[in-house]
Formats: sequence, C-alpha cells, structure tokens
Amino acid sequence: MKYIEIENTDNLPSGYLKENDLFSFECHSGLACFNRCCRNINLFLYPYDVLRLRKRLGISSDEFIDDYVDIVLRPSGFFPEVLLRMSDNPEKTCPFLTETGCSVYSDRPDTCRTFPVEQGIYHDAKNNKNIVIHFFRPPGFCLGQHENKNWTAESWAKDQDASAHNKMTAMWADLVSLFQNNPWEGEGTNGPKAKMAFMATYNIDRFRDFIFTSSFLKRYLIKYDLLTKIKNNDTELLKFGFVWVKYFLWGINTKNIRQR
Ligand code: SF4
Ligand code: SF4
Repeated sequence: MKYIEIENTDNLPSGYLKENDLFSFECHSGLACFNRCCRNINLFLYPYDVLRLRKRLGISSDEFIDDYVDIVLRPSGFFPEVLLRMSDNPEKTCPFLTETGCSVYSDRPDTCRTFPVEQGIYHDAKNNKNIVIHFFRPPGFCLGQHENKNWTAESWAKDQDASAHNKMTAMWADLVSLFQNNPWEGEGTNGPKAKMAFMATYNIDRFRDFIFTSSFLKRYLIKYDLLTKIKNNDTELLKFGFVWVKYFLWGINTKNIRQR
C-alpha cells in the first residue's frame, strides 16, 4: 500500500485501474512460473496480516515478530515497516512456501491475496478524505497476465476473498498517512510513544495485556460494549488500536475513549 501524493488521478503511474477497468489474469499450477512469485521478495506485512498469521501458526504476536519478520525504518520514515523474513536458502523462498504451494493460503497476507494488483492510497484534498486505488502490475515473469480471464479490481478482490484484508489495510493506510511528519518529538523512534504505537498496531497480544492488565482502564473510560468486543475479538481490538494511536499521538477525538 503506497501513499501517493497527487492532486488528482490524472497523473497516476501506469497500471491504474479505474472502477470498471478490466485486466486479464489467471494463476494456476500448470504455469511455468508457478510459485516463482513466492521467492526473494520484499513482502510488507500490515497489522491485520500479522494478526491472522500468528493465529494461523498458533503462536503469540511476540513470537511471530521475533521469528518471522524484519523491522525496517527507512531514513525518510517515521514508522517502521515490517517485512516477512525470507528463508535462509539459495532461492530465499517465503517461509510458508511448500512444494504444493502456500501453507497459509487462507490466511496469506493482503499483498499475496491482491497480487498482481497493488493497492495505493491518495488524498482527495477537495473532499478531505483518503481514497484507495488499484494498479494492475504483474512482474514480467508472471505468465498469468497472458491468460484470458477478465477481472475488475473489485471482482478480483472478491475472488481472492480479500475484502476483510483490504478493509483493514485501508484503515491502516489511513493511519500511516498521518506519519508524514515526525510525531515523536524529541523521543525519536525508540522512545515510549513509538513503542506504544508499534504495540497497538503490530503486537496485538501485548496490546490486549496493556488494555486489560495495566492501569489503562483506571485512566480511560471505554464503553462496556466496546470493551466486551475488543476483549473477545482480535480484529475489533486492532481497530481500537488504530483509533488509540490517533488519539494518543495526535489527540484526534473519538467517542470511544474518554479520559477519567
Ligand atoms: S508468477 Fe503470476 S501466474 Fe505465476 S504463480 Fe505467481 S501469480 Fe501465478
Ligand atoms: S505467504 Fe503464501 S502466497 Fe505469500 S509469498 Fe508466502 S507462500 Fe507465497
């Protein structure tokens, strides 16, 4: 998910798919490139990807972060990016790739689900809102682009069961777009604020502990219904995490959090 700073969609890079634009694509095991796209890649994981994958693997988010990802901070960025660590073999295969394909298929990350469509977000200044846009960008080696099945970005997302991931990624992109300027003040990216923001978005198990076992609920009033929801549902907890980061870092008001 890229944040694209432009005034309007006339100047977008190639591959941009308007609402009803069609692209041809089909992926199947009979193609010579089968699984080639699962090697030696920069696979960015978004918070909902981590939530789903750690559950699929039956491990905590701490364990997943320790064992499966690299955390990278670009010199120009203020929030780290989370990359799936490729296996230490000559082909640098994805750790979830097996001879028969993806071993976490129904919980595969959003980027894999949506591939070879990429998502971006741009700010519609006129209406002051972020809009998700799509690009059809298969790499040259991807032979699926020469097959004859037609899709729109929407029908492709539906076919790939990507709507839950896409929705959560759009929420995440909305939050990430606020990190255009340094929110950490003097603390830097290793300070307590940065650690809090990372925990609330990428380390859902620790965030749950923080909400329910620290003094958080003595300091903040959260409606009973919402508390019940976030206690029992990781996705709702993650959505709350996004709202909390906006409130905590930028003071963006929400009806869901009140200081006591
Ligand atoms: S490279 Fe393209 S067609 Fe080949 S397996 Fe990957 S997505 Fe499918
Ligand atoms: S998660 Fe699955 S689909 Fe994605 S790169 Fe790894 S093996 Fe391929």
